[in-house]
Amino acid sequence: MAEIQIVDLKEDSCRFLLSDASESLANSIRRAMISRVPTMAVDFIDIYMNTSSMYDEVLAHRIGQIPLKTDLEKYNLREECVCKGEGCPSCQVSLRLNVEGPRIVYSGDFISDDPDVVPAYDNIPIVKLKEGQQLMLEATARLGFGKEHSKFQPVVACGYRIVPEITIAENCTSCMECVRSCPRNVFSSDDGKVSVKNILECSLCMECVKVCEEDAVKINEDTGKFVFYFEVDGSMSPETVLREALNFLKSRFTELAEMVEDLS
Ligand SMILES: [Zn+2]
Repeated sequence: MAEIQIVDLKEDSCRFLLSDASESLANSIRRAMISRVPTMAVDFIDIYMNTSSMYDEVLAHRIGQIPLKTDLEKYNLREECVCKGEGCPSCQVSLRLNVEGPRIVYSGDFISDDPDVVPAYDNIPIVKLKEGQQLMLEATARLGFGKEHSKFQPVVACGYRIVPEITIAENCTSCMECVRSCPRNVFSSDDGKVSVKNILECSLCMECVKVCEEDAVKINEDTGKFVFYFEVDGSMSPETVLREALNFLKSRFTELAEMVEDLS
């Protein structure tokens, strides 16, 4: 049974270890985090006034990319909402912007109808206005999935590496060549003996195997262990992204199991 162990958890990033898993499961988790966890993003804009040097389309595109704080308990997916996709306070939020130059317009200038759905960062520059230039618009945000558009992705970086098993054979002469050649300081040379101290850092570059004249360094890549690292865009916490991705996979696997059950 696959297991997840959190190695390092920060406000906007997380490193965790997945063990007893296949590569396809590891990749499913990665893909679910990128494309199957919904987040809020601006999807529709009414521009009342734009005398800035930026075209409406470019402006709308920039605003769409601003990460918004997302509370998944509070909002419905528009297509699953009681309004049947028409748009209502249960599935969308309005954010207004009314700014006059000269100044730079920042994400923090938006006034949201819901104080819980605001830009994750206040200091994202949108456009620079000169004297007399004005921007007045109303943006509508809704929940969406990364598979639809990258602006709905809750993660900005997400990947994993195989965690190998490195063994040092008896014939090791403690020449320390492997310790010196490793670019990621995986080995330790304490007490004059080579040992593995930082296995999660190994990127499988195989330098240690190449430099060992005695062929004493053996690397096994088939361990069923993977180390994940991902960063979130501020819309929600790393724990929420991981939990939601796993919930998605769980429901998909349950569905599949039921389909298989029906076949037999
Ligand atoms: Zn609705």
